[in-house]
Amino acid sequence: MALEVLILGSGSALPALSANQTSQVISCGNQLFLVDCGEGTQVQLRKNKVKIQNINQVFISHLHGDHFFGLVGLLSTMHLLGRRAELTIHGPKGLAEIVEIQFRNAGSHLSFQMIFNTVEKAGEVIYEDAKVVVTSLPLKHRIPCFGFHFQEKKGLRKLDGQKLLEYNIPVYARKSISEGEDFRSEDGVLIKNAQLTNDPPKPTSYAFCSDTAYYEKLIPFIEEVDLLYHEATFLESERERAKKTFHSTAKDAATIALKANAKHLILGHFSNRYKNKDGFLQEARMVFKQANVAEEGKVFTV
Ligand SMILES: [Zn+2]
Ligand SMILES: [Zn+2]
Repeated sequence: MALEVLILGSGSALPALSANQTSQVISCGNQLFLVDCGEGTQVQLRKNKVKIQNINQVFISHLHGDHFFGLVGLLSTMHLLGRRAELTIHGPKGLAEIVEIQFRNAGSHLSFQMIFNTVEKAGEVIYEDAKVVVTSLPLKHRIPCFGFHFQEKKGLRKLDGQKLLEYNIPVYARKSISEGEDFRSEDGVLIKNAQLTNDPPKPTSYAFCSDTAYYEKLIPFIEEVDLLYHEATFLESERERAKKTFHSTAKDAATIALKANAKHLILGHFSNRYKNKDGFLQEARMVFKQANVAEEGKVFTV
């Protein structure tokens, strides 16, 4: 089962003509997850033909505007389009108050229910369904900030058509075998489930690491992750500024990817002082070869 990450914004706080602010759509299991919601996210969702009413879970990393100023606008649009299904918003303390005060003072009564789940600790399961588990990640920023780790659950073993024929398995038994049961023939011969099925596809994982300074305590939480998004606001020439503002350089992001033994890395949250992203790729790939840059509209598939 594929996990897909659609990039809606690759820029940082100051607006740029060529970049939107942080937001991503993660498609995993049967769900569309919206992660961060910078200004203009709903326009980006439209541009990329994402069905906004299919989003039922929103994750906000922290309360800097470039990560959530698009949220009230998006919620208003969902309301205007007649949404009925409830929407869960996972985010830091204070988010519920900010959102509710806006609607209350506008005299708006939304057509759907919002459920706020306050994320206060790292390493906690904040969402789970039959196909995926989402855990909060520790980040080091000026204000409380969490990343999100999406882990697919192991699927059921797959029926092996060839083996079913070989062992002459009746059609009625296939459902229970696909659910993991052994098969016993009429003359009492037991055929083990593993003889009739193949391993399920390997579950995949994705870690979204929003604004953060270089932070090694994050590593144990994202070890062996298939795809890592890590902010890289600056290049090495601005290392001091990165430190001061609790952001990372491309090299920092790549070092975290290397130490965590991640398979692939996406860099993002680029400062608008840089005219192109070549420097980010160069500096990152000197440390970690499988590095790429976020770009509006780009899809990364795991
Ligand atoms: Zn930011
Ligand atoms: Zn920030």
